[in-house]
Amino acid sequence: MTTILPFWFSDALKKEKKTKINKLKNNLHTDICIVGGGYTGLWTAIQLKKKQPSLNIAIIDKGLCGSGASGRNGGCMLPVSPKFSAMKKIVGEADAILMVKATEQALFEIKYFCNENNIDAQIRLDGNLYTATNKAQIGRFEAVVKDLERKGINNWERWSKKKVQKHSGSQKNIDGYFSPLSGSLHPGLLVRGLKKIAEKKGVQIFENTPMIKIEENKKVVVQTKRGAITSNKVVMAINVWMPQYFPSLSRAVVLVSSDMIITDPIPEQLDQIGFTDGKVILDTRLFTHYYRTTIDGRLMLGKGGNLFSFNNKVIQAYDEASRYEELLKNSFDRFFPSLCSVPFMQSWNGPSERTKTGFPFFGRLKDKSNIVYGFGYSGNGILPTYVGGKILSSMVLDEDNEWTRSSFCKGPLGLFPPEPFRWIGAITIRNAVMRKETAEDMGLRPWWIDAKLAQLATSVGRLDKSSY
Ligand SMILES: Cc1cc2nc3c(=O)[nH]c(=O)nc-3n(C[C@H](O)[C@H](O)[C@H](O)COP(=O)(O)OP(=O)(O)OC[C@H]3O[C@@H](n4cnc5c(N)ncnc54)[C@H](O)[C@@H]3O)c2cc1C
Repeated sequence: MTTILPFWFSDALKKEKKTKINKLKNNLHTDICIVGGGYTGLWTAIQLKKKQPSLNIAIIDKGLCGSGASGRNGGCMLPVSPKFSAMKKIVGEADAILMVKATEQALFEIKYFCNENNIDAQIRLDGNLYTATNKAQIGRFEAVVKDLERKGINNWERWSKKKVQKHSGSQKNIDGYFSPLSGSLHPGLLVRGLKKIAEKKGVQIFENTPMIKIEENKKVVVQTKRGAITSNKVVMAINVWMPQYFPSLSRAVVLVSSDMIITDPIPEQLDQIGFTDGKVILDTRLFTHYYRTTIDGRLMLGKGGNLFSFNNKVIQAYDEASRYEELLKNSFDRFFPSLCSVPFMQSWNGPSERTKTGFPFFGRLKDKSNIVYGFGYSGNGILPTYVGGKILSSMVLDEDNEWTRSSFCKGPLGLFPPEPFRWIGAITIRNAVMRKETAEDMGLRPWWIDAKLAQLATSVGRLDKSSY
């Protein structure tokens, strides 16, 4: 199989008049060096420049900014409110409320930032619908909605079957909860736009410049092939590559693919099924299906929880067409039987780093270290990485605030078993979840053992485990 450029990333690069690549060619001294030019790294740099415009900041990326998850995700802007019940048990109610509200607020702040800075990331804040596609999924959302209501932070509303079907373009959805506080965007245009604005604000960006080694003494030295960057502080924003450089954090995540297909433009057909806006639809499976349209009339469908890698290695298959293309096409046909002959433009995939808790964590490499990191977005990163930028900028500047005091900044809050048990466990659980969900689709009762094993997969689900 060959390496491909995922649709959004290649589309964003095509729209750039000239992609100028600046590589690091000599030694450099900066206040802050950020390793990784995805949303986390770029938002952190932008936040830092907002707080202290005179800071001297450099970002390096091993490829182009956005070549990781940020340029290839589904573009679904989803606050973390569906995780509220599970989250508050781990970080406490106050911190969970803080994160729910911050990710909801991020929706508007990202839109505002893009408007202010002329980034056309095709943002459409048309909400999000969590649906049930079989009887077993009905009601799974109820408990978390009640929990959110009790705290006065609920934005979810249950819709009738008729309304769900009318607004989701599919008769397969038989129940659902809608929140207006969500939407979709073009992930590639966002990340490349952020890169441009960060540079405009004076951040030096070096692409095709992989970090080879990092050493911390009084200063931190990030070594690359042609030069070293010596800084007071370093932010590690390399997401799924963290375990490779920092094995001590490897047990904090499991890498697994999310896979997607996208059609050619089919605006007339989308008109016919009545699904043309920027709403995001997700079913209430553990390995959820998600779909959304694009402004040029395409339909994209994705599914998480597919290809696990052994020892959290970022394997070549993550940069190829999806190995689950057939499965995605079958799902597409079941959601949209009237569209089963539409042409597909591409399939692709990418690894996301699932944590045991299902939400990200931030920390310092060692006590008092000047190297800070943040990752573990668990497949839901567009809004949380914006919050991550606020958190990491606060950590770098040694600020004492609600984020730096929160449990989100205490490093990993749960660990997976070491290999080979992690990989064997992940595959066993994934297969159990698949059998359970197939049985539920057929209206059958799943095996007891599959139901129990599925409950262990809390981090891949978007709801509290008791909901499954
Ligand atoms: C297929 C897929 C679909 C997803 N769908 C959604 C979605 O619909 N909605 C949502 O909210 N979230 C989604 N996510 C999650 C979201 O995309 C991520 O959480 C988010 O993009 C993480 O941003 P990041 O900057 O932390 O990481 P990345 O974007 O991965 O950036 C890390 C960067 O580090 C660089 N790097 C790595 N190693 C080095 C090195 N040695 N030296 C220098 N640079 C290095 C990489 O090249 C990369 O550019 C999805 C993720 C995937 C993979």
